[in-house]
Formats: sequence, C-alpha cells, structure tokens
Amino acid sequence: MWRSRSLRPRRRRSSRPPYWEKAEFPFHAIPNLATLGLAGGTIKGYGCPGLSLTASAICIAEVARVDASCSTFILVHSSLAMSTIALCGSEAQKHKYLPSLAQFKTVGCWALTEPDYGSDASSLRTAATKVPGGWHLDGQKRWIGNSTFADVLIILARNADTNQLNGFIVKKGAPGLKATKIENKIGLRMVQNGDIILNKVFVPEEDRLTGINSFQDINKVLAMSRIMVAWQPIGISMGVFDMCHRYLKERKQFGAPLAAFQLNQEKLVRMLGNIQAMLLIGWRLCKLYESGKMTPGHASLGKAWTSRKAREVVSLGRELLGGNGILADFLVAKAFCDLEPIFSYEGTYDINSLVTGREITGIASFKPAVLTKSRL
Ligand SMILES: Cc1cc2nc3c(=O)[nH]c(=O)nc-3n(C[C@H](O)[C@H](O)[C@H](O)COP(=O)(O)OP(=O)(O)OC[C@H]3O[C@@H](n4cnc5c(N)ncnc54)[C@H](O)[C@@H]3O)c2cc1C
Repeated sequence: MWRSRSLRPRRRRSSRPPYWEKAEFPFHAIPNLATLGLAGGTIKGYGCPGLSLTASAICIAEVARVDASCSTFILVHSSLAMSTIALCGSEAQKHKYLPSLAQFKTVGCWALTEPDYGSDASSLRTAATKVPGGWHLDGQKRWIGNSTFADVLIILARNADTNQLNGFIVKKGAPGLKATKIENKIGLRMVQNGDIILNKVFVPEEDRLTGINSFQDINKVLAMSRIMVAWQPIGISMGVFDMCHRYLKERKQFGAPLAAFQLNQEKLVRMLGNIQAMLLIGWRLCKLYESGKMTPGHASLGKAWTSRKAREVVSLGRELLGGNGILADFLVAKAFCDLEPIFSYEGTYDINSLVTGREITGIASFKPAVLTKSRL
C-alpha cells in the first residue's frame, strides 16, 4: 500500500509496482478485493451490499487513492456490468448472475465502444440478428476492461431488424468470441483492456437484457457510473497528495526539508485546494442523484471537471518529486499516467463538456455545423 511505505530513495525498490510495470492483472488480489464488499455497490438484494451512492463513491475513491487500476477493475465489474443486469435485466437474470458477481466468484465486463465508434458510441454497428432460440452477435468491440478473462460479458449491439440498441449477456468461452489484450498502455496498466471479435456468437433468448431498447436505457447505467468515475480522480489526487506531503518532509536540499521551501508549500496547498473542491463536487453529485434531481449535464460536468482538476494535481505532484517524479518506483508518476485514460473514458473531457453545454444552452454541438445545419 502506498501510504505504509517510505518514499526514501534507498527504499525505492520495495515501492516498485511490479504488476503495473508488467501490465499484468494481480489475480491473487481478487479474494482480498471481494472482502471489501464493494461489488454491486448500491444494488439491494441478490447478495449485493446495498450501499448508499455516496458510500460507494467514497469507497471507490479510497481504492483509487492506493491503486487506480484496482478501482477501474471494480468499476467496470460493478458499476457497469452488474448495474446493467440490475437496472435492465429480468428477475431470473439478476438471481442467476448477481450473487456470484457480488462475491467476485465471477468477473464482469461491459462492451459499448467499437473500433470506429468511441465518442459516437450510440452509432455502434455490432449486429444482433434473431435466430431460432436466440440471437447471433457479429461485430467488434474495443478497449473493453476485464474482457480478456471476464466470465460475464455485457455486449451492446444493434438489432438488425428494428435498428434499436439491445443488450446481451455473453458467457466466457462462447464459440465465436475472441478477446485480445491491448498492449503498451501508459496508464491503468494492470487493467486488461481487450479488443473483442464476435463472429456469430449465439446468445440464448434468456440472456437478452430486455430492459435495453435504446441508448436512453444505456444512459441510465452511464448516469450512475459517471458519478463513480468522477470520484476516481479525487482518489488519485488524494494519493498523490499523501505521497508528496511525506516526501517533502523526508527529503532535504540546501540543508532543509523540501517542505520548508515556500514555493513547495504553495504547490502542496494548491493541490489540497483542488482536492477539497473536487470532494465537494463529488459529494454534491451523489446528493443530487440520491434525491432524484441529477441531470445528465450534472454528471458530465462533475466527471469532466474532477478529471481536469486532477490533471493539475498530479502534474504538481510530479513536479514536487523532482527527478523521482518520473520514476514509477515513487508512485506519483504511476498516478500521473493512470489519470490519463480516466480523462478520456466514460466520455472524454470534451464530450462531457458538450453534454453539459447542450443542457445549459439547448443547442447540441456534437456534430460539425455542416452536418447539423438542416436541424438547427
Ligand atoms: C483505458 C480505457 C478503458 C476503457 N474501458 C472501456 C470499457 O470497459 N467499455 C467500453 O465500452 N469502453 C471503454 N473505453 C472506451 C472509452 O469510453 C473511449 O475511449 C472514449 O469514449 C473515447 O473514444 P475514442 O477513444 O474512440 O476517442 P474518439 O471518439 O476518437 O475521440 C478522439 C478525440 O476527439 C474528441 N472528439 C470526438 N468527438 C468530438 C466532438 N463531437 N466534439 C469535440 N471533440 C470530439 C474527443 O474528445 C477526443 O479528444 C475505455 C477506454 C480506455 C482508454
């Protein structure tokens, strides 16, 4: 754990994050993560913890404070895969899948993004074709966290007959399903993101999520998961602050601890100010959601804003550690890199800004004016 380790250079070997460096997932940690009782978050029943959204979000931030990859692993599994089954699945599907997912006996993933449809995900092309007894899925997915080893894959696809978006539960090892790890990521290196190929993957009718018939239904899941993602930068920033605070007191230059220099104190205070403001935004989002008043624009503003502010925090942290700020050994550089994918997933900073912009102006600006002219 970051906070229990000295940041002194002579101890740096013991601080190296080996799984992060090797870009491997620490499977042995799953039973320990299970004991935290976080999987399923706010879901009530089916073996899930039934936490308040605020409690769930604070827990995710605390995990991210120690390791962002672990928090993403939990979020994909819980806030995306499990929440989709809870919000859009039948009673039978909830009873069948949620209890083992809640205990991490099985792991879930959630596949919306495609190679050609990232920000424009609602235009996705993976096809669901009706066949006797079920459906055939054909297409590709990209960036899907946990997908290389997930037992339960939530696949979002376009109904070939109705053109509507539908959701399906696909099981590990289904014939025609292939997930390949995306290599060379600079952040969240422990998370196994995959490219998925679906070639006539048969899904029985009982595994179709009947609650998903449009992108609006998918947005119900994204509304909650976006709040949780907004808390990841908060946790990452708190972890970086912890490390910098300790480092500045331990390391000396010019005969004094780095913490004694006024310029360093100003940076530390700026980091703290950002963290306090981020915490208030995160808390406000949770309260709006819990009182039924949260709009998509609120969630998008929160996610966009915390990820932007956290960029400033991790950048200051990297600076405060001098040369050691670029070594993964000291963990600030690791956090610096881990924030980058979070800035871009669950809607990039730009897309989330445009969601809020549309809400406050009444004008959608996702498509270049030349394409939208006829609609304005
Ligand atoms: C580490 C990681 C984990 C992920 N996990 C998952 C997962 O588990 N499941 C899943 O389904 N997806 C996942 N994603 C995908 C993620 O949601 C997408 O990467 C994200 O939505 C952005 O899509 P893109 O990468 O294709 O970027 P693009 O859409 O190609 O965007 C490129 C740039 O153009 C900008 N841009 C695009 N459109 C507009 C516009 N209209 N106006 C202004 N600017 C625009 C973007 O903001 C961005 O800066 C993950 C991604 C990463 C990196």
